[in-house]
Amino acid sequence: MKRCGFIILFTFFAWALAIAQDCTILSPGTVLMGQNDYIEYRTGNMPIVLSIPHGGSLTPSEIPDRLCPDCVTVNDAFTIELGTALSDSIHAITGCRPHVIINHLDRIKLDANRNLADAALGHPIAEQAWNDFHGFIEDAKTCVEEQFGTGLYIDLHGHGHTIERIEYGYLIYEDELAFDESVLNSTTYVNYSSLRNLVAFNVMGLQHTDLLKGDFALGSLLHAQGYPGVPSSAAPYPLPGEPYFSGGYNTAVHSSYNGGTIDGVQIECNQALRFDPEARDIFAGALAENIVQFVEYHYGHSSSTCAVSISEHEDSNVAMIHPNPGYTQFQIAPAMLKNLERLSIFDSQGRLQQQIPPETEYIHIERPGVYMVVLRLKDGREYSERIISLH
Ligand SMILES: [Zn+2]
Repeated sequence: MKRCGFIILFTFFAWALAIAQDCTILSPGTVLMGQNDYIEYRTGNMPIVLSIPHGGSLTPSEIPDRLCPDCVTVNDAFTIELGTALSDSIHAITGCRPHVIINHLDRIKLDANRNLADAALGHPIAEQAWNDFHGFIEDAKTCVEEQFGTGLYIDLHGHGHTIERIEYGYLIYEDELAFDESVLNSTTYVNYSSLRNLVAFNVMGLQHTDLLKGDFALGSLLHAQGYPGVPSSAAPYPLPGEPYFSGGYNTAVHSSYNGGTIDGVQIECNQALRFDPEARDIFAGALAENIVQFVEYHYGHSSSTCAVSISEHEDSNVAMIHPNPGYTQFQIAPAMLKNLERLSIFDSQGRLQQQIPPETEYIHIERPGVYMVVLRLKDGREYSERIISLH
């Protein structure tokens, strides 16, 4: 099977969005909508990004149907409901909210898990929705990278395969999952993987195969709770002829396969986990618990560590640093200043540039660029704000 190449088109796009957005302003759970309300972004404050590309039901006449011979138009029923229950369960467990991006368009209008050409078939309104969907994911990833450094992206789907089990896609094909450990742990196959960054940096020093199907793999954790899946320690690879989705466009473009520090997995849920509301909610709780565990075990992000937004703070609506963008001198808001324990300034590469004593009211930036200012308060909370120095 020929492995597809995915072209990195997002670098400039992500950069432009990152400058436009400030992750600390919005309260977690704030709803942002794309054009015509086709795409929804529920903002988060933890290192998990969830996208739901195939659960939509809107069929606006302004977008023509996707009637090409090879176009798949079957929706993944109840995945928006499942994703919402999953997000709510994660919040119930941790007090934090994942970032959630939802395509509300029916797949007959937009396939949000394809490249732009195949997704929208050249129709400008569908193309705008595609850009909104992927732009919101990039926004969310930028926030996670700024606030946590690393994180996990999940593309949530539903399959109709006859084998009722969860299929976890890490961009490793079904026949490849059966290869010897030495092959799967080689640089070649790690570089094919959506867990590429995690293999290089994980808390327990586990190898690629451990993260795919070892005892602490996501599939194994869920399997132990009565939710069979592949790959997992119980079913390390699909047998010849068994159906399996190894991960699609979104997993490739938005995971560390494509670079960066956010890994990815496509989770394909079988029908028994989606169609019945009660079973769905119970499963969402188990999935939430195990995703949180996976992130804690391997990334070391404590399950209850949220990035607190400024609007949740008692001094809400107060900009922390101004003017922004500015030139060489920036002022710290008095409301922050009185509670400040430490202020650190990092450059765009994450390198510490300055540490400022708490009583300092003004900060000075010598070189133009984009910087991250991290303010630690006396009560232990931390805020971060991106500032732009123009000169
Ligand atoms: Zn799907």
